[in-house]
Amino acid sequence: MPQLAVCKDCGHLLYKGVDLKPAEEIIQLNGGTCPKCGRKLEFFIDNVEIFPVEDLEKS
Ligand SMILES: [Zn+2]
Repeated sequence: MPQLAVCKDCGHLLYKGVDLKPAEEIIQLNGGTCPKCGRKLEFFIDNVEIFPVEDLEKS
């Protein structure tokens, strides 16, 4: 199931892919902060929404 992870503050796409990644890995991929608004992603569950998508082309 494809996965999307977006910053809750600015909606920036942090991760998009077919593999489910743990929150810690997505945080590390983005250097610990949102690259757009700079929000710190230490408490991933509060800052970021992760949701499955049926079809990446539609998202
Ligand atoms: Zn952001």
